Amino acid sequence: MKARKAVEEIDPYVPGRSKEEIAQEFGVKKEDIIKLGSNENPWGPSPKALEAIKEELNNINRYPESDVELLKKEFARYSNVKPENIIIGGDGADEILDTLAKTFIEKGDEFIVPLPSYMYYEFLFKPYGAIPNYAKWNLETNTLDLDSVLDAINEKTKMLFLCSPNNPTGALITQDEFRPILEKTNKSRGGVCDAIVVIDEAYVEYAEGTNVNLLEEYDNIFIIRTMSKVMGLAGMRIGYGISSPEIIEYMHRIKPVFSLTKLSYVAALATIRDTEYIEESIKKGIESREYLYNEINKMKSVKVFKSYSNFMLIDIHNTGYTAAELTREFMKRGMIVRDCTSFKGIDEYYFRISICTLEEDKKFIEAMKDILNE
Ligand SMILES: *Cc1c(COP(=O)(O)O)cnc(C)c1O
Repeated sequence: MKARKAVEEIDPYVPGRSKEEIAQEFGVKKEDIIKLGSNENPWGPSPKALEAIKEELNNINRYPESDVELLKKEFARYSNVKPENIIIGGDGADEILDTLAKTFIEKGDEFIVPLPSYMYYEFLFKPYGAIPNYAKWNLETNTLDLDSVLDAINEKTKMLFLCSPNNPTGALITQDEFRPILEKTNKSRGGVCDAIVVIDEAYVEYAEGTNVNLLEEYDNIFIIRTMSKVMGLAGMRIGYGISSPEIIEYMHRIKPVFSLTKLSYVAALATIRDTEYIEESIKKGIESREYLYNEINKMKSVKVFKSYSNFMLIDIHNTGYTAAELTREFMKRGMIVRDCTSFKGIDEYYFRISICTLEEDKKFIEAMKDILNE
């Protein structure tokens, strides 16, 4: 039996590794493992989310809400937009991306992504017959190679993925860079195509400012957000998108109706209202990031990329290790880091780490010094 051609040709997505896997493979205790591989919130979820989940447990024999109005209102308040600008996904932001593909992609349409960036875009878009047209991220300056994006735009372009802060490089794309891209992808402004510019703000809370204001000027923007990172709910799979009411309405026609479970719904509602938890998560996250950056920046054999996110990329060309070898060394010591070899657009000498508690950060730095003889 053959699958569809687009499925036969797919490159599997390589996720960060779990504690269970590492415990088994390296014979370390699950409780002792330090996880720096998946950009999660190391301090756990909001206590209010836990309470809400417990209260809702007895109701899981019932279908969830299909219309999630209250949560839309909360996301709209949080993001400074209107509820009709919001769509909510129940498999995280990844479901929002999938719904974008289902709503807008015809076979043969092109999408643009500057590499390296989040690999899930092409994982989700290729099955719908969309064709990648790669642009570049400049690793020397850690900035978007704007010309490579502008050059890639043509009449077949349907979607662009611009991740800011960019995963895995951690840097921001500026509004001066977004504007010419938004112009060239909007026919009513003299552009060569009508395409949706997806601005992935999964890590926006750790950065300086959002791009939501651009929505007032351009109707071809789609902003992606998630509760998996600063909001501490990666396991509950909640994401949302912000865009023009027209785009949002089309997407609602095709989005899975019950994908947001009852438990995810109440957890999301409790968390987005828990301003204190959110502020504390951001503050501790930035503290951890700065600590890790400053310590790693002192090491002579590696180059660490400045980050506006909760993770950072590390260049290990001068260490004598490949990323696969180095991540193995960490895993033997019970620490999960992200080998970036599976990211297109960088070679096999990069790995990524994400924030942990300060105590865990210190253990990680000790291990890194030990492995690299720093
Ligand atoms: C984590 C992440 C997401 C969303 O993840 P979900 O868990 O599916 O909400 C989206 N984009 C980027 C760049 C990410 O790193």
